[in-house]
Amino acid sequence: MAKIAFIGLGHMGAPMVRNLLKHEHGVKVFDLNAAAVNALVTAGAKAATTLADCCADSEVIITMLPAGEHVHDVCTRADGLFKHAKANTLLIDSSSIAVDTARLLAKQAQEMNLPMLDAPVSGGVAGAEAATLTFMVGGTDAAFERAKPILAAMGKTIVHTGPSGTGQAAKICNNMILGVSMIAVSEAFTLAKKLGLDPQKLFEVSSNSSGQCWSMTSYCPEPGLVPKAPANRNYEAGFTTAMMLKDLRLSQTAAQSVGVTTPLGAEATALYTLFNNLGNAQLDFSGIIKMIAGDLK
Ligand code: NAD
Repeated sequence: MAKIAFIGLGHMGAPMVRNLLKHEHGVKVFDLNAAAVNALVTAGAKAATTLADCCADSEVIITMLPAGEHVHDVCTRADGLFKHAKANTLLIDSSSIAVDTARLLAKQAQEMNLPMLDAPVSGGVAGAEAATLTFMVGGTDAAFERAKPILAAMGKTIVHTGPSGTGQAAKICNNMILGVSMIAVSEAFTLAKKLGLDPQKLFEVSSNSSGQCWSMTSYCPEPGLVPKAPANRNYEAGFTTAMMLKDLRLSQTAAQSVGVTTPLGAEATALYTLFNNLGNAQLDFSGIIKMIAGDLK
């Protein structure tokens, strides 16, 4: 079993660590929040007191941090991972960060003889708890093969997407589709009701025809149609609007960096910015149907 250090024990990181412990990996944990560390020590992890302490004896170091600036800082600061990890320690960053940042860090890591993978996830907190996450993994074949059995303790689908940065590219392209399709489904259900069409009937038709998509059949924003969807619990997240907006913004930065036009991605970013700024950052992203329907209180 591997000796793993895990940095970032929030909504996602904590259940991921629990699954590593279930597979009898030795896990050292680090977070700025002492309560998050203590909860996992009770579950069988060891506490690391500093980043350098994370590096001592670890074969693999996983980061699950809020954003690119945190990952960059933890890697490059004077007392950080690049300075203190032993040669050939495998670094796996599962945070959602910019493609360019992931590529820059992997290049700098390689110069320090540290293989680094970008391995963002989809599946949310429920997927992290059930060990059913999808990992999108960018990096070398050799690093991917080393990471695979460890990621398998936390996820169900593990895709090697190509070289460094392609894991993050897969994540933001997927979530750009998701943001756009959620708005499209929200518009369609809002229009249907105004036209006197029962939402249940639209669902019966579209879920079996060309309008079918995940945003409709697994996560329908109209209440009463998909039992597990956040729409049925007042849009309690789920996947927050703030998180969706973060990923859409990353998609737009990436699109600009390579000169690709993504007008629907841009429109989805604008609409989610508006919805977010109206006080809905912590609401599930499917709640945008309320803004489209003019039902925001
Ligand atoms: P979170 O805010 O719940 O947890 C982040 C943790 O990192 C916190 O415990 C915080 O104290 C810790 N932290 C911050 N800076 C630190 C530092 N310098 N050193 C050590 N610890 C530090 O975030 P989350 O919801 O767990 O998300 C983590 C990542 O996963 C994000 O990049 C997010 O975009 C991505 N993600 C989240 C979800 C989701 O549904 N929550 C789904 C897919 C991907």
